[in-house]
Amino acid sequence: MKAFISPFHDHHWTGNALVRGRLQLHHDAQGRGAQVEAALKDLELQCHYVEPGSVDMPELNRVHAEDYLHYLRTASEEWLQRPDVSFEVRPNIWPNRYFPVMKGSLPVAKAGRYLGDGASPIVADTWKNAHSGAETAVMGAQALLDGERSVYVLSRPSGHHAMTDMAMGGSFIANAALAAERLRSTFKRVVVLDIDVHHGNGTQQLFYSRDDVLTISIHGDPDVIFPFICGYDDEVGVDAGEGYNLNIPIIAGSEMAQYRPHFERALQRISDFQPEALIIAAGYDTFRGDPFGNLCLDTPDYSILGARLAALKLPTLFVQEGGYVISALRANTRSLLEGYLGER
Ligand SMILES: [Zn+2]
Repeated sequence: MKAFISPFHDHHWTGNALVRGRLQLHHDAQGRGAQVEAALKDLELQCHYVEPGSVDMPELNRVHAEDYLHYLRTASEEWLQRPDVSFEVRPNIWPNRYFPVMKGSLPVAKAGRYLGDGASPIVADTWKNAHSGAETAVMGAQALLDGERSVYVLSRPSGHHAMTDMAMGGSFIANAALAAERLRSTFKRVVVLDIDVHHGNGTQQLFYSRDDVLTISIHGDPDVIFPFICGYDDEVGVDAGEGYNLNIPIIAGSEMAQYRPHFERALQRISDFQPEALIIAAGYDTFRGDPFGNLCLDTPDYSILGARLAALKLPTLFVQEGGYVISALRANTRSLLEGYLGER
């Protein structure tokens, strides 16, 4: 297994997040990436640090709207030219059911249009970090096309909440979706299986009307945790994509005994689809005690999940998502990959 790593994966840059009505230091904190990186080195994976700007990725403009990408690139600079503003771009008004399209041109109006929640502020380095993460994911996918059987992508920020033209959940660019597009250049059918505790709403939206990329998300019940407004089991896809999006919400407090049958259901759906490649949106916030999760997996459980994924015998790309118990990230990453590599 090779690992592709963004050189900015552990920078301090994320600002603050609005959580339960309070602005607090963003949970995507410095220190997370270093723990995952340590796990990759524990396992003696071949680690490649992706040179910023070195990856040609036409997928970026297919997955995201041009005006949104322009916004991500320029928002911070434009914002900071206004008098008396915070260091982070943050909306205080959003499109809503009476004004579904926000038309204003002031930075605050654009922020409401493009930043979908209180956990996705833009700071000076947001574009640099998100773009590098995307390059890392695409390079990882390319490695699979070049013959690698399995690859781990360490990028930060996460990508699975990012939508066509809207950031959400601290995700700005849809890393796993870009990787899926790259894999689709060769493979007919690709799966994205999201095991982060939060619904992968961005990945779902991006492929919702397509039958060539099966999207599956196993997550904590959105009636209880973020993103609250989507991730329910009646969201199954539309048009050609009907039946190619599977949401599996899981009751709060579930341990491995309750989680496992849901995971097996996802694996069965993957087998039925007969894909040629598998992307795992790898979040570890299903871990017991995660401050942003509500499930109760323990470190050895990830080995079981890894072994079951390996049994699918597909070219597999792991793309980094969440996990906020920083002290356990190294062990949990190692556990997942040890299970995967042991089975193969
Ligand atoms: Zn998450």
